Amino acid sequence: MVGCVCGIIIIKFMNKILKKEKLNENVSRITVDAPHIARAAKPGQFVVIVPTENAERIPLTIADTDTSKGTISIIFQIVGATTKVLDSLKEGVEIAHLLGPLGTPSHVEKLGTVVIIGGGVGIAEIYPMVKAMKKVGNEVITIIGARCKDLLIYEKELRTQSTELRVTTDDGSCGRKGFVSDELKDIIAAGKKISLVVAVGPVPMMRVCCDVTREHNIKTVVSLNPLMLDATGMCGICRVTVGGKIKFGCVDGPEFDGHEVDFKELTDRLKGYKDVEKRAMDHVCRLLGG
Ligand SMILES: Cc1cc2nc3c(=O)[nH]c(=O)nc-3n(C[C@H](O)[C@H](O)[C@H](O)COP(=O)(O)OP(=O)(O)OC[C@H]3O[C@@H](n4cnc5c(N)ncnc54)[C@H](O)[C@@H]3O)c2cc1C
Repeated sequence: MVGCVCGIIIIKFMNKILKKEKLNENVSRITVDAPHIARAAKPGQFVVIVPTENAERIPLTIADTDTSKGTISIIFQIVGATTKVLDSLKEGVEIAHLLGPLGTPSHVEKLGTVVIIGGGVGIAEIYPMVKAMKKVGNEVITIIGARCKDLLIYEKELRTQSTELRVTTDDGSCGRKGFVSDELKDIIAAGKKISLVVAVGPVPMMRVCCDVTREHNIKTVVSLNPLMLDATGMCGICRVTVGGKIKFGCVDGPEFDGHEVDFKELTDRLKGYKDVEKRAMDHVCRLLGG
């Protein structure tokens, strides 16, 4: 759609949802018509989505792109009001606003052996990084973990792209019974020379992975999910402390040196709006049902 305001030409892309799939009870994947973003996106970048005109802005990682079709894929976990609204949109519906690609892309280079770890919905977020790191010639050992088999996503896709895939579940219903950090410890104990570890997932998982690698002086990158609003470096709500300095998750990140991150502050700040978030979710559930 093309419009003209005060002589400035405004092009509004339609961002239609072309495909919607349930990956498990709480996680959905949408494929969105967004040729401008598909062309420009690099691994590690994200979009800001406003699902409907009255909804909030939320950041979601670009999980995959198809430049020939002009589409991007987004995988999201339904945790609150806005992800619930996004999940209610059906194929053929247009997303109200979609902004991206945003954030500093992942640093991709040939290093040797790279261990890439995804936990929960973070499994989908590591997919572009795994593909890119393998493409430039790294040995990529991917570790994915979830609470149980039903919550594991992207196993087939990541097995195809990785040199080796290791799976853990908390209850042992698939792969090793235990945590992704247990597999990481085993790889290190076996004497493998690891050039880089990348960990993406819940904050406690990333913190534990960093504790493991710190002892062995292995460089570790984490992708942080602070609360975020404008996502262009202006509002400061996504500020995190890294190496004693304040950084903005949206423009300086979302990837940072995990050994330098103040995880306690990040955890505390993520809890800051629990009451409001609960009220918003209750309201949306009343409107949408469920
Ligand atoms: C750069 C970036 C990339 C992200 N990529 C993805 C992705 O690919 N897929 C995905 O499912 N999620 C991703 N997230 C997290 C996602 O943005 C939040 O889950 C979402 O904003 C929640 O909105 P809501 O209104 O549904 O829930 P809210 O009501 O805002 O929150 C509900 C619950 O989720 C927690 N929460 C809220 N925001 C975050 C957050 N940023 N990180 C962790 N927990 C949060 C709250 O503390 C609360 O417990 C990303 C976040 C960032 C900053």
